[in-house]
Amino acid sequence: MPIPVRAYAAEASDKPLAPYAFDRRDPGPGDVAIDIQYAGVCHSDLHIVQNDLGNTTYPIVPGHEIAGVVTAVGSDVERFKVGDRVGVGCMVDSCRQCAPCREGEEQFCVPGMTQTYGSPDPKGGAVGQTITQGGYSTAIVVDQDFVVRIPDSLSLDAAAPLLCAGITTYSPLRTWGVGPDSKVAVIGLGGLGHMAVKQAAAMGAEVTVLSTSDRKKADAERMGAKHFLINSDKDAMKAAAEKFDLIINTVSATHEIADHIQLLAKDGTMVMLGLTTEGMPVYAMPLLWRRRRIAGSLIGGIRETQEMLDFCAEHDIACDIELIAPSEINTAYERMKKSDVRYRFVLDMARI
Ligand SMILES: [Zn+2]
Ligand SMILES: [Zn+2]
Repeated sequence: MPIPVRAYAAEASDKPLAPYAFDRRDPGPGDVAIDIQYAGVCHSDLHIVQNDLGNTTYPIVPGHEIAGVVTAVGSDVERFKVGDRVGVGCMVDSCRQCAPCREGEEQFCVPGMTQTYGSPDPKGGAVGQTITQGGYSTAIVVDQDFVVRIPDSLSLDAAAPLLCAGITTYSPLRTWGVGPDSKVAVIGLGGLGHMAVKQAAAMGAEVTVLSTSDRKKADAERMGAKHFLINSDKDAMKAAAEKFDLIINTVSATHEIADHIQLLAKDGTMVMLGLTTEGMPVYAMPLLWRRRRIAGSLIGGIRETQEMLDFCAEHDIACDIELIAPSEINTAYERMKKSDVRYRFVLDMARI
């Protein structure tokens, strides 16, 4: 039987999100049906709702930071059972045959992963619709291979944003081998930045936060940062030159990156995580002079997402959240545009 759900959807780029009802597919043999309890609000949701990338299909139900409880499993599902606490992130399927999929990096699937919302959907997750529909809804049906387990020690509301924000920062910290000898800088203390600080500190790194003002200094220190730098302070920036092995750049608006490159030590890397849609100038000289690199990173594979959740449970790391009712989503978007959130909005789906 298809599962009726209540949701919040955008009907057009210039309309506020509004209540919306549709059906999820009847769970198949490999599917897990999940009662969604909490859904994190990611900056990407806003980009898609506003059609910033120019490819949004409406109506669209955003949400790819999903935490909930299993209500049914298909006959082939052995790893999950009714009552399990589980999460779903940015992907609900991939081709499973290309090299990245075989290596467990489904986010880089060559034909393209099936994103949790807004992707063409051959499996018809949302009945009668051509695209996948996301987590601002009361239930979802997902292939078992794209479901992860949320450890008991993590509360479901504060764990929800780990499914996108948490893995987006964890993956580059692991890829670039962060450990006790690392000096890591995090640009921007928002949804992504605050996760990067907590995770890098838990890995033993010496963490510095770079921000445009000192408003969040006390928060940064509470989260594990040793140092705090205001990036308009030229003297402080000069004093920090060549200091960092890794810079996690979470800024999602066009900004000056040339100055920040100078902060990298020899062989240091700046990883771009924020989705900016315009170009930013980069100069060759500071890169070649110290063999510095600029790189990108995109969420993480399913295996790594589970590893991240287990790591966060072990180190008692969760997101700092503001829990809101789904009806407050449009206000939340307005506040998010002004970076007025500490540090992630999470929808309490029981209040729909
Ligand atoms: Zn996201
Ligand atoms: Zn693939």
